[in-house]
Amino acid sequence: MSTGELCIEGLRAGIPGREILQGVTLTVRSGEVHAVMGPNGSGKSTLAHVLMGRPGYEVLDGSVTLDGIDLLSLPTWQRARAGLFLGMQHPIEVPGVSLTRTLLAARAPVADDGSHRPEKEMDVRLHDEARRIGFDERFLDRPLNVDLSGGERKRNETLQLGVLRPRFAILDEIDSGLDVDALGAVGRRVEEATTEWGLGVLAITHFRRLLNVLHPDVVHVLSEGRVVATGSSELAELVDRTGYAAYS
Ligand code: ADP
Ligand code: MG
Repeated sequence: MSTGELCIEGLRAGIPGREILQGVTLTVRSGEVHAVMGPNGSGKSTLAHVLMGRPGYEVLDGSVTLDGIDLLSLPTWQRARAGLFLGMQHPIEVPGVSLTRTLLAARAPVADDGSHRPEKEMDVRLHDEARRIGFDERFLDRPLNVDLSGGERKRNETLQLGVLRPRFAILDEIDSGLDVDALGAVGRRVEEATTEWGLGVLAITHFRRLLNVLHPDVVHVLSEGRVVATGSSELAELVDRTGYAAYS
């Protein structure tokens, strides 16, 4: 079971000429689920991108550490190696590369004992994870996300999470595009990961319905690039009932 923390402190970041995140501070510990809610344009996806190191964003101030390792100085692939995972709001199509090949490449060098994972083991895990979330196993060998519906792409992100077993996952609207059954399956899979291997989760979502399955320990409201409220799951219920007007 992994123990550790993803620590974001005073993070200010944006695109050239525009500061979007204006000092975000929060800490996610292993096994915890933190929900980040907030109106459109409040900087939720920017936070996800900056944490993972997407090109085009610049950090102005603050720090992000995973068990004390400074993530902001690392390229994206090394952040992934350190144990950070991003489930994207809009997963991209990668023609010519299958999910299976992608995961083999991502996973091979990071076996717990330093050895290479045999392909067979990966294959078993892939199919096992696919069944757990009702992901059509025919997609495993097809080009990544090509011609997949929005909901299938979100399941695909969840499948990658289950196979790669990162230490911390940022899930950017993993619930968008999912029907109610898929939402339950995806939410439960992530919830189980928090006890299975101590996954820490930063779940960006607009809606409380995900949080009925993936139970948040802490809820944050982001508005105009700042965390303006932090509370328990009751905060998500309040936002659901009254909207964001009180926080802007
Ligand atoms: P959210 O995910 O909360 O809806 P975003 O982080 O996507 O918000 O966006 C926050 C603000 O920053 C928005 O006004 C958005 O248009 C702007 N923004 C984010 N990324 C970029 C970018 N790469 N180029 C231009 N504007 C951006
Ligand atoms: Mg967004």
